[in-house]
Amino acid sequence: MDFRDQVKSSVNIVDVIQEHVRLRPSGPNRFMGLCPFHNEKKPSFTVHVVHQFYKCFSCGVAGDVFKFVMETQGISFYEALKLLAERYGIPMPKRSQYADEDARVRDALVQMHDMAQENFRANLAGPQGETARGYLARRGVSRETIEQFGLGYSERTGRALQRLFEQRSFSAAQMEQSGLVGKRQDGTFYDRFRNRLMFPIHNEAGKIIAFGGRALSPEDEPKYLNSPETPIYKKSHVLYNLHRAKEAIRKEDRVILVEGYMDAIGVTAAGLRGVVASCGTALTTQQVQSLKRHSQKITVNFDPDAPGANAAERSINMLLEESMHVRIMELDGGLDPDEYCKERGAAAYQDRLEKAKGYFYWLADRARTKYDVHTSEGVVAVLQFLLPAVQRISDPLERSAIANDVASYIGVDRGMVLDSFRKAVANRQEKALERPKTPMRHDERMLLNALLTDPDIRDEVVQALKHIEAIGRFSSRHIFQAIFALHEAGSRIGFEEIHARIEEADQNLLAEAVLNEDAYASREEVMAAVASIQRSEAEDQRRQIKLRIKDAERSGNWNEALRLTTDLQNFERQGRESK
Ligand SMILES: [Zn+2]
Repeated sequence: MDFRDQVKSSVNIVDVIQEHVRLRPSGPNRFMGLCPFHNEKKPSFTVHVVHQFYKCFSCGVAGDVFKFVMETQGISFYEALKLLAERYGIPMPKRSQYADEDARVRDALVQMHDMAQENFRANLAGPQGETARGYLARRGVSRETIEQFGLGYSERTGRALQRLFEQRSFSAAQMEQSGLVGKRQDGTFYDRFRNRLMFPIHNEAGKIIAFGGRALSPEDEPKYLNSPETPIYKKSHVLYNLHRAKEAIRKEDRVILVEGYMDAIGVTAAGLRGVVASCGTALTTQQVQSLKRHSQKITVNFDPDAPGANAAERSINMLLEESMHVRIMELDGGLDPDEYCKERGAAAYQDRLEKAKGYFYWLADRARTKYDVHTSEGVVAVLQFLLPAVQRISDPLERSAIANDVASYIGVDRGMVLDSFRKAVANRQEKALERPKTPMRHDERMLLNALLTDPDIRDEVVQALKHIEAIGRFSSRHIFQAIFALHEAGSRIGFEEIHARIEEADQNLLAEAVLNEDAYASREEVMAAVASIQRSEAEDQRRQIKLRIKDAERSGNWNEALRLTTDLQNFERQGRESK
């Protein structure tokens, strides 16, 4: 067994996927959940326990545990292998043949970030961290919280990390790629973060991949400086604090979205752990998708100022597009989430959270302050304003309920609101993906399952079926052909290997076959099915010989007819003997 197989057999794909997707059992050997790779309301994402693979019947993604980790974390095969091996305590082979150049660079960058983090934390605790500590004390950040969030301080000189990296012999190219140091015209390096309060940014697996730095003196611009994009940091994929918050998000089935680092820290310190921050960038599809794996319910709590409200408004459509259930939380007194928790207390914040409005009421409120609903132009403008959000509600009942509410909320006729909503929705074409049809016969499914799961009878079954012409008429013929080819080549025959060799329509058939619980059969049943296929093949051949004899007789070709008759007799004798 090579290392890949060793890892694969020690890891249960269901456990790994369950960290990202809420799965429910849907049969003895399978689980289903909402697909993390596309937007859906009804689960079509299936995970199979026996075959250790996943498959989405809507968007078609499929693969094994490595592919899942690679795709959800955006890492290479080697990194996925390493991550799973580490997680499950399987020692990596010493001289690993899996290491590729990309993975080595990322490895180096992660190491550099760990070193930077150590340096920043030591600085904050040391004499040079006094100003930063003072700032944190003024913001009411406790020692415990500083520890929990790994806050640090980058020193003034701008040479600390550069020296550290040089001492450890990181190459100039690695230093440049890390985003932690910058390069001057003359080729020398300097630290990117100087005299700043440092917030480490983690990926979902909990590794530090970037930093955010807050200026401590007013003359330093910008106020917040972030790591640039690097091979380990894709801004649009990362949400601050998600690795810490995800468990609470799943447990409470709700995520709180705030804007800044300090908000996420303040709200967490107040005891609400399911909070993440977008950190100044506009929310992206990838970020929403990484949230959706944990919960579909989100409460947006942005700053109470105009930019905050505009950002909330923009993110609503993005969130609705991904079928999230959106609430908007507003804080009184012009306080941001961090200030609110500190000034009014955790209970008050919790209370506002429970009272957060459905996004529609919030939008309607916004519309009412923008337009005069006492004029018909105003009403039209309000409806126009609400339409983008309405278009994203696919459930007619929900739409009708909201139309009702909106009508009474802005004081217009319900029919008029519903009518404008309906038109808007009709304009938006929904492209629903159909589930694949299943034209496979029961014995096809049964044989495929046996070939995939039972190496003991595989040889026998392949030998028996390889020359059967009827296989060429099976709807699953391409899958059988792939299995025969793999068998011929002496390659491993598993779901993944077959999947990689066939086209999409056949991939769907393959998944259908293995997901059908009625297709699991005993060895006897499988061999009986093989025998039955062989019998009908023999029957076919006999019928064909008989037809050719008739043809020969009709055209007076007696020699040929005699020869074929002998063939038929031999064939029938063989058939009797083999029984
Ligand atoms: Zn999907």
